[in-house]
Amino acid sequence: QPNTEVLRAEGLRVSYGKVQALRGLDMYVNQGEVVSLIGPNGAGKSTFANTATGFIGYEGSITYRGQEVSGVGQRELVEQGMIHCTEKRDLFGYMSVDENLRLGAYAIEDESYVEQQLEFVYDLFPRLEERVSQNARSMSGGEQQMLAIGRALMGDPDLLILDEPTIGLAPVILDDISQAFGPIQDQGVTILLTEQNVTFALKHADRMYLLENGEVVKTGTPEELRGDDYIRESYLGG
Ligand code: ATP
Repeated sequence: QPNTEVLRAEGLRVSYGKVQALRGLDMYVNQGEVVSLIGPNGAGKSTFANTATGFIGYEGSITYRGQEVSGVGQRELVEQGMIHCTEKRDLFGYMSVDENLRLGAYAIEDESYVEQQLEFVYDLFPRLEERVSQNARSMSGGEQQMLAIGRALMGDPDLLILDEPTIGLAPVILDDISQAFGPIQDQGVTILLTEQNVTFALKHADRMYLLENGEVVKTGTPEELRGDDYIRESYLGG
């Protein structure tokens, strides 16, 4: 069966005034894959995520299911299943867990899907189910991250973009996030994961791209990158 391409960037360039955040990036994501973009602070990971989702203008090309992103509206991209769980989480702080989750399904008309998916999310993250009526802002960082992922799942993603989900989280919470990958993939969701935590990315990705200063400097499978001297010395503590 041929690979179906979900996302492809070719010679992708993004600048903020004089700052060049992406300098000719090439990458692709096939249906069903978990692809991870790793790299240090300022490498351009969030810029890539924001460009893919139509928030930032660019040069070069980035296509979602063969359509140039610049020609598709942000809302349309969401309706076509590209759902972005941002680094800042963007929760509604004074709304409850349940309300935040239901807002993630704003573009979904099928009410039975919404109820079913709500159940899926509560099964995935039982800590959310224990806190259905709690305001988002009063939750721990880890719980907020689970809520942000849960809300993204409520939008019926086809491509789920997880922008640095582990940022600021304790190792014990990382396990709660980790265990969600399998069930999410079982729903047929393709995942683009941006990460500074290379160990976490190695654990979940099928393929990875190392970004430095807006350029891909290494790409390969986790096995290939684990065996790479540069990755080991610079990102895995030798
Ligand atoms: P981090 O892990 O710290 O979030 P990142 O890999 O996601 O880093 P980006 O946030 O994409 O990196 O930043 C890439 C570069 O673009 C940085 O030099 C940053 O200062 C710059 N940049 C990002 N957003 C803006 C903006 N809105 N205006 C100006 N410069 C920006």
